[in-house]
Amino acid sequence: MMAGAGMDHADVLIVGGGHAGAQCAIALRQNGYAGSVTIIGKEAEPPYERPPLSKDYFSGEKSFERLLIRPPAFWVAKAIGLRLGREVIAVDPAAKRVALSDGESLTYGTLVWAAGGDARRLSCVGSQLAGIHYVRTREDCDRLMEEVASGARRIAVIGGGYIGLEAAAVLTRAGCQVTLLEAAPRVLARVAGPELSRFYEAEHRAHGVDLRTGVTVIDLQGETRVAGVRLEDGSVVPADAVIVGIGIVPAVAPLVAAGAAGANGLEIDAFCRTTLPDVYAIGDCAAFACHHAGGAVLRVESVQNANDQAGCVARAICGDAQPYRAFPWFWSNQYDLKLQTAGLSLGHDAMVMRGDPATRSFSVIYLREGRVIALDCVNSVKDYVQGRKLVEAGARPDPARLTDTGIPLKDCL
Ligand SMILES: Cc1cc2nc3c(=O)[nH]c(=O)nc-3n(C[C@H](O)[C@H](O)[C@H](O)COP(=O)(O)OP(=O)(O)OC[C@H]3O[C@@H](n4cnc5c(N)ncnc54)[C@H](O)[C@@H]3O)c2cc1C
Repeated sequence: MMAGAGMDHADVLIVGGGHAGAQCAIALRQNGYAGSVTIIGKEAEPPYERPPLSKDYFSGEKSFERLLIRPPAFWVAKAIGLRLGREVIAVDPAAKRVALSDGESLTYGTLVWAAGGDARRLSCVGSQLAGIHYVRTREDCDRLMEEVASGARRIAVIGGGYIGLEAAAVLTRAGCQVTLLEAAPRVLARVAGPELSRFYEAEHRAHGVDLRTGVTVIDLQGETRVAGVRLEDGSVVPADAVIVGIGIVPAVAPLVAAGAAGANGLEIDAFCRTTLPDVYAIGDCAAFACHHAGGAVLRVESVQNANDQAGCVARAICGDAQPYRAFPWFWSNQYDLKLQTAGLSLGHDAMVMRGDPATRSFSVIYLREGRVIALDCVNSVKDYVQGRKLVEAGARPDPARLTDTGIPLKDCL
């Protein structure tokens, strides 16, 4: 299985050159790690930031060079090997060896699986037509930008999560006619409370997006190119291009085939160790019992989680293993709205509105059994900065004080 043209070794072999993989290599060197470190990356580009792909890279405000996590010379200077444009296709945990798609194989001392996920594909009739786009990689985004530049104006966005909403905002501003189709009764249903969903729905509609919730896509219509999206009620949304933002499928197959536990994410313990010896998993592909979600097992898809798990593993490899407990935070930019989220609202049993959404600056505070567990702050940096301390402290403030914008959140501790 592992026969290949060449054999090589890395003391730490990192699979995936995204946020988690890159940060793990960086943190290893920051911690003084002197062994050999190699990153295998499926994409052709050196590690870059993904969030701008639906924000300021997509809108043309940021060049790709500004997305790079480090300049190319950094990797050379730090003796971090980058093997790009190839993927790990098999792992032999007993021999501590991986096989690459280019026929090579490498042995490792420690393996760090940081392979993220692939955009979940539509499977309905028509999903293979030209003009259907996903937004996960730079290549995806470039293809979509080319399509818009060459005249696609009517865009249907399938999925009302952050990526779909951010893409809708950029396209609307660029003069496109956007229809956003969400199957759930509200956008952001998976990650935020109804107040926030309603606010963003109203914002998008005010900007001209034809935003529809509770709609089911039946198929995509067209000859070779997509021409429309057919809905359950028989109506067809005409479209020159379609963007699909319906989540990711974690990239775990080679490791699961090698015997690692996990399905929707590799199972990891508090130290980011998989069930295979000397194999860690971090970032979007890892499922763990989250301290900040009452121990619920989940994958956290965020840059914060990718970076902090990377740091956790780098420290462990350097002999300073600490359980992963980093504080979750997230952001999203749509139009002139900056959303900052602290904590995880999953499992909240109460919600407090602070400020008036009509002012476009407000916060939603989530509680569980009286404790503040998360905040969504829209154009409200002060609430975010002060509010995250409430979450970190597990504070149990009087909800009436939380709603009073005259009382700074720091005084609710
Ligand atoms: C458009 C978009 C906008 C986003 N916006 C935000 C935001 O505003 N804030 C935020 O916090 N998060 C945001 N996210 C999420 C964030 O980007 C991810 O959580 C983060 O990239 C996860 O990092 P990762 O390293 O785990 O995975 P990735 O960044 O996906 O990197 C994994 C890498 O591994 C490669 N790979 C996969 N399989 C293999 C293999 N077998 N061999 C070798 N390489 C492999 C992949 O090609 C990929 O390059 C956004 C994501 C997208 C797509």
